[in-house]
Amino acid sequence: MKYQIISSSSKGNCYIYNQDLMVDIGVAFNKIKPYLNNVKLILLTHRHSDHLNIKTLKKTLYESPNVKVACGRFLVKQLVDNGIEKSSIYVLELDKTYDLGKYIITPVMAIHDVPNFGYKIIIKKDNYKIFHITDTGSLSHIEAKDYNWYSVEGNYESNEEMERRIVEAKKKGEYTYLQRAKENHMCQIDTLNWLDKNKGVDSKYILIHQHEGD
Ligand SMILES: [Zn+2]
Ligand SMILES: [Zn+2]
Repeated sequence: MKYQIISSSSKGNCYIYNQDLMVDIGVAFNKIKPYLNNVKLILLTHRHSDHLNIKTLKKTLYESPNVKVACGRFLVKQLVDNGIEKSSIYVLELDKTYDLGKYIITPVMAIHDVPNFGYKIIIKKDNYKIFHITDTGSLSHIEAKDYNWYSVEGNYESNEEMERRIVEAKKKGEYTYLQRAKENHMCQIDTLNWLDKNKGVDSKYILIHQHEGD
């Protein structure tokens, strides 16, 4: 399976699987322009601007009107209010499974400060299974056994490290959003533990959406 990471961090997220399936579009248009000839479907996770750059999405659909967007109901109003045609949008419900051409897609719940989906994706042709999730405080409610590919958030190293930094900031009387980051994002140790429980011997994985600086 061919995959491309256009961007992966709190500065911007955009991933392309199998050349034609994009997940999130939180980047400037010129970054994705070279790939647009192939892209057919864009899965959106949530409304934060590092995942959804509405200007880029509009421009993409303007240049490639056949591209479809799939997302949770919670994003539809924002898209339509920004001039995106309803006919371009597949509205997805949590935990339901959809047959979308080359792909079978099932949204799963991410634990975040706004509604957010992770995605179970199956490439129908060869039954290749992909699990993709970012911006979640927990994974323990999700099972995705023996997938071929996992792209899972590993935002910061460990809870202990995070606690230390929070205490330090408080001692100095500094405002810190680390507590919020801790509740809304996965630490790498927990992600790796979850992967150990779910991945099979031949599974591949990458940790995405890693924390950059403060
Ligand atoms: Zn994010
Ligand atoms: Zn977010």
